[in-house]
Amino acid sequence: MRLLIAMMKHETNTFSPVPTPLARFGHGPGPLYGAAAVRAYRGTGSGLGAYLDLAEREGAEIVLPIAAGASPSRPVEDAAYEHIAGIICDAVAKGGYDGILLDLHGAMVTESFEDGEGELLRRIRAIDPKTPIAVAYDMHANLYAAMIENATVVAGYRTYPHIDTYDTARRAGEILLAAIRGQAHPVMAWGNVPMLPHVMRQGSDDHPNRELQARVAAMSAEGALAASLFTGFPHADIANAGLSAVVVTDGDRALAERLRDELLDRAWGEREDFVYRLEPLEQSLARAKALGSSESWAPQPGEGPIVLLDHYDNCASGGTMDTTAVLAAILREGLDNVAAFAIYDPAAVSQAIAAGIGAEIALAIGGRMAMPAIPGESRPLTVTGTVKTISNGRFRNKGPMGRGVLTDMGPSVVIATGAVEIALISRHVEPSDLNCFYALGIDPMQKRFLMLKSRIHWRAGLGSVAKAVVECAGMGVCTSDYGQLSFTKVRRPIYPLDLPNR
Ligand SMILES: [Zn+2]
Repeated sequence: MRLLIAMMKHETNTFSPVPTPLARFGHGPGPLYGAAAVRAYRGTGSGLGAYLDLAEREGAEIVLPIAAGASPSRPVEDAAYEHIAGIICDAVAKGGYDGILLDLHGAMVTESFEDGEGELLRRIRAIDPKTPIAVAYDMHANLYAAMIENATVVAGYRTYPHIDTYDTARRAGEILLAAIRGQAHPVMAWGNVPMLPHVMRQGSDDHPNRELQARVAAMSAEGALAASLFTGFPHADIANAGLSAVVVTDGDRALAERLRDELLDRAWGEREDFVYRLEPLEQSLARAKALGSSESWAPQPGEGPIVLLDHYDNCASGGTMDTTAVLAAILREGLDNVAAFAIYDPAAVSQAIAAGIGAEIALAIGGRMAMPAIPGESRPLTVTGTVKTISNGRFRNKGPMGRGVLTDMGPSVVIATGAVEIALISRHVEPSDLNCFYALGIDPMQKRFLMLKSRIHWRAGLGSVAKAVVECAGMGVCTSDYGQLSFTKVRRPIYPLDLPNR
């Protein structure tokens, strides 16, 4: 058996000013190719890790031309997209495969295409109309017809935080292998409903996505080879942004359609619970301060920190990660024993490295990137402190999310102001893994407060130990106030932008 395996992943925030050149894909210089890609992902808890395990089990010969994944940002530069898609298509053109296994995201927008994945699959099918194709998509995929119709089997994550990337790819891969052996004849039905579930309300540990994903999983006992409900990525002003579903059955199209309709109907019925209610920043900080300083505060051994969630600026949703509104409020309010992860500021990192370990410095951090899509001006924040840590910023994920995968924060430092330890990094990394702190010499369990630029993924590493979480509405292109964003291309009407609650 001969299998073609490839990864192309990017979640595109069309409101983000962060550029997406080829260099953003991968670690350091860009994507990984061939043997280097196999080495990086074999044995990891990633989609590629699952495909490689399946191939090994089958004794299959593998071709893995490229593994290209980038942290979310603005639409992918055409040159980057053409390079990645071109390498995959060149490999497809060589032919001789029994199956094609793709690890994609599903919400990739390029400078020229709203649907980067659909365009890739269309190109693959134009070269090779027959070889079965399996695709694993992220729960934040915004589905288009081409993403389904040009594939044999599609499966999506069922968890957010995404701790089932491996399981999802394995599910898609197993069905594909059964199809290759003639033991299954997958048919798919997909559809969407006009709703933009808010990312802060999409966690699979919370109602309503918890119950929806439980229903998705239960469908396997009713004849679904794979069922997936995509909550979608709303920070994308494209026609098909929003919630969708796809169900794969063994040759039973009517069943696939019935289960798909059930999922879409259930999700639509829960639309009000997918709406996020904002709390003003001053109120959040006051609440955090009371929580952290109350008489009842008596940290027990093993008791974790209070999480201050700077969710407007989550780099894993396209945030610049350099807004300072929440950090400034923390310093102003005098919260003590805080670690902040992180401010993206390569220039400030260089200055701190030049000053050296132990140096006392005053640094202007963040506020460097203009955000034309949202109102207001993001300004640098001047902090004074000691350079506590200098690091190359590389670590392997502890898990459960992406266990074993190399994460690269770029050159990184920690500035200790006395009350707050501020991590400054040079590549966008969301704090979803505990090792992002340990790699910088910060023990999060010793902190009273952790400021995290994250929305849901922080829960993968810290959810089980956090004493409390306070959501802080700061500033950034992941704004939870949709009124700040101008949607012009998404299909209308769409809930909650246009439709009444009932
Ligand atoms: Zn996602």
